[in-house]
Amino acid sequence: MNRYDTKTLQEYDRNYVWHPFTQMKEWERDAPVVIVRGEGSYLIDSDGNRYLDGVAAIWTNVHGHCKKEINEAIKTQVDLIEHSTLLGLTNDKAAILAKRLVDIAPPGLCKVFYSDNGSTAVEIGVKMAFQYWQHQGRPRKTKFISFKNAYHGDTIGAVSVGGIDLFHGVFRPLLFPTIQAPAPYCYRCEFGESDSSRCGRRCLQELERLMTAHADEVAGLVIEPLVQGAGGMIVQPDGFVRAVRELCDRHGILMIADEVAVGFGRTGAMFACQREGVTPDIMALSKGITAGYLPLAATMATQEVYNAFLGEYREMKTFFHGHTFTGNPIACAAALASLALFESEGLLESLPPKIGYIADRLQVMIEHPSVGNVRQCGMVAGIELVRNKETKEPFPWEERVGVRVCREALRHGIFLRPLGNIIVVFPPLSSSLEELKFLMDGIEASIEAVILPSGA
Ligand code: PMP
Repeated sequence: MNRYDTKTLQEYDRNYVWHPFTQMKEWERDAPVVIVRGEGSYLIDSDGNRYLDGVAAIWTNVHGHCKKEINEAIKTQVDLIEHSTLLGLTNDKAAILAKRLVDIAPPGLCKVFYSDNGSTAVEIGVKMAFQYWQHQGRPRKTKFISFKNAYHGDTIGAVSVGGIDLFHGVFRPLLFPTIQAPAPYCYRCEFGESDSSRCGRRCLQELERLMTAHADEVAGLVIEPLVQGAGGMIVQPDGFVRAVRELCDRHGILMIADEVAVGFGRTGAMFACQREGVTPDIMALSKGITAGYLPLAATMATQEVYNAFLGEYREMKTFFHGHTFTGNPIACAAALASLALFESEGLLESLPPKIGYIADRLQVMIEHPSVGNVRQCGMVAGIELVRNKETKEPFPWEERVGVRVCREALRHGIFLRPLGNIIVVFPPLSSSLEELKFLMDGIEASIEAVILPSGA
């Protein structure tokens, strides 16, 4: 039993915890929900209230909370060893997991470099691509192409390849400059294209122009395949990732796929790139890798990339990068248990009816006068709320419509976290159809309650 009552916990939080991506003055005014337990798709607070976890523990959860098989795998591992190091040693779980990841990854990705969060997984990919060209005798290839609205994490390297001004603008003077390419956002096309069947074409033309102009100095391109997550769950048109792959090949640019949010089944395939038949040169994984249990990340690379780092000690081809908790055996044991569950529970095979159900509900929601756009890719969706559906005028951010809808959702027993005016749908992949109904009913009711037909 918890020795602390809810009030004390809230007070400790208010007094001592500085929350991420949070305006703390506002936070301090509220009494936060204190989560103490989880059960399947539900979070349970210190007063015993249950909330359907509509964002899957910030996009990490796969099999539900407190999943027996993963709990057991972690307990077993704790009794064997908690941590050693990959500096001068290996461990059984890290080795077995690397083999498993290579087995399920897009063909050709055959090496696994471990770290412990999504930002570092991407940053490692960026450093790898940079050093790769140094070793290839192409020292001028030092730049990166990134996309508008991209989000790759919060460390300096990951922010450098990000494209969300609200998050990244303040740090600009600290960052290395990148070449920013337009990204398809069919609902708000920056080229004014209204025919959605043509979405992505102008972006690709512009990307090709940038590559042609800068190929000699570009080391790599970083992309969130299929869905730009934190940018607003913006879904790319079919064929976009494949076209980007072809352009990278044509211009001698390494493709770094950031599958931190979309990896491990989220888009309906194990990895998003597989839906386009694409193998990136480098692929960053985290979030779902341990099904939301423990911090772990992996940056996978092709033999071609790896070979550039092979040499005698004095050749200075070593990849000088590594974190203390790299390859942690408890996290790797959790990841192995999660991958075993993908198979034993036929998780990927179970997704199509759920994906179809979400799609059906979104088609109803789009009729709401303040729902401007709905977009979905597998088990992730975004519902964009607008003040004026005709003109697509957004609600002013000060009105905090997304936040208000999510607050209302709590009263319906659902936890959501918006991205500005976009309501994010990101439930655990294991959610049942009944739970998805509860989730979509709650979102619909919350939008109705917060936004009156005349506006906010
Ligand atoms: N890349 C993507 C696509 C992400 O969505 C995120 C996190 N939301 C990250 C990288 C960063 O991961 P982390 O928060 O674990 O550093």
